[in-house]
Amino acid sequence: MSFAELGLIEPLVRAVASEGYEKPTPIQEKAIPPVLAGRDLLGLAQTGTGKTAAFALPILQRLHQKGYRPHGDRPIRVLVLTPTRELATQIGDSFAAYGKHLGFKHTVIFGGVGQQPQERALRSGLDVLVATPGRLLDLASQRLIHLQHLDIFVLDEADRMLDMGFIHDVRRVIALLPRQRQTLFFSATMPPEAQKLADQLLTDPETVAVAPRSATADRIEQRLYFVEKGDKRALLVDVLRDPQLTRVLVFTRTKHGANRVAEHLHRSRIKAEAIHGNKSQGARERALAHFKSGETRVLVATDIAARGIDIDDISHVVNFDLPNVPETYVHRIGRTARAGATGIAFSFCEMEERPFLADIERLIRKPIPVVTEHAHRSHMPPPSGRTEPARPASAPPPRPHGGPRRRRTANAVTTARSGRTPSAAMPLRAAMDSVTRTVPTAIRPIGRAAAASVRSRAAAAARTASAAPRAKLPM
Ligand code: AMP
Repeated sequence: MSFAELGLIEPLVRAVASEGYEKPTPIQEKAIPPVLAGRDLLGLAQTGTGKTAAFALPILQRLHQKGYRPHGDRPIRVLVLTPTRELATQIGDSFAAYGKHLGFKHTVIFGGVGQQPQERALRSGLDVLVATPGRLLDLASQRLIHLQHLDIFVLDEADRMLDMGFIHDVRRVIALLPRQRQTLFFSATMPPEAQKLADQLLTDPETVAVAPRSATADRIEQRLYFVEKGDKRALLVDVLRDPQLTRVLVFTRTKHGANRVAEHLHRSRIKAEAIHGNKSQGARERALAHFKSGETRVLVATDIAARGIDIDDISHVVNFDLPNVPETYVHRIGRTARAGATGIAFSFCEMEERPFLADIERLIRKPIPVVTEHAHRSHMPPPSGRTEPARPASAPPPRPHGGPRRRRTANAVTTARSGRTPSAAMPLRAAMDSVTRTVPTAIRPIGRAAAASVRSRAAAAARTASAAPRAKLPM
């Protein structure tokens, strides 16, 4: 199937060709025809699947076909609401690239920067507005944004939007929109809160779902390091001695943690920068630009900051901290296998994170191979049910508790067979769905006690899912 066969007009086909796209991605194949036909859409897809073009291309075509001319009096016809500045910028860039032969005007607005340039862009008239909720409401309350002529509303990354606590802002934005409109709703997962919002917003929607990038987890080489909490930074430096780690995205749980790791790497003469919500917009953009250009080898990020950042060619992902929500693990490691590339993901697991590891392995339905030979190996025994693999004959004996550390390469990998390898292969997406549908709060950042409760419910969901026949996903 080609872009032209999907019904796209020549200026759009030409634009995607000049972007180097040869054929539509699955979400584009499924979403473009119904959106062109004016239908509401529920898209279960995440960043990286090509979802931006899946909505931007048919939207541009609809603007064109409605006979709107890109000049004169131009009320806002399209609003794309998205959770982060980075996503907003990327979506804006996509509208510019795909619409370059049509001449419609778009602008991107988000908080954390001066209002004046955004104000000027709004006053000069535009067709497509891409915005984060806070600044949008701010400008709307100053009567700088008028949405009464809106035709199409896109809610992007709805699950993340709710996760970030934007639900009230989202509802306030929706209250500004005309009832008569086309609505496109995108979410990677559908926790009940997102489903409720979708039910309220969409009228007879076409539902399309594509396997997220996370379904490529099988293609990603995954390795696990058992390590003491206090040794993680030293282990990271060791791991980074391997020159094959050319462009590395390191995930930490907290912003503070991201700063500390970046500073430690810096002191170890490894070029690294941290990116998270406490950094100014300028600092985030600079860090990203340095990472993209290769000037910085390591980007240390929190999940929220990294979400939606479009960086190709990440050679390795390092989970410096294991996430307490197992789907997050799958999303993180998917960053290293973009556009069909294979990637490598390392995970550092300290004692307190072992319950998280169990949840992750249950979700991906396989044990992660353990790197047994490294200088910072935990002196705690392996988790119960996981047998330590035999050491290769050439390997020196493990460091006794508290004994001197051995210096070894970070990459001696052996697979630990836990003896509980699942037999029936349940597709990863199905496993993810069963967990996210059953565990309402699974996507929320949570405290330790709540995490334990989520874990046990997620485990129950995964068990139920593997035992019971599953409801079919609309594809
Ligand atoms: P998105 O999911 O919209 O963030 O897109 C992820 C990446 O895929 C972006 O870098 C796009 O430029 C790229 N992309 C989108 N559609 C296609 C396509 N049909 N062929 C190749 N690359 C694409």
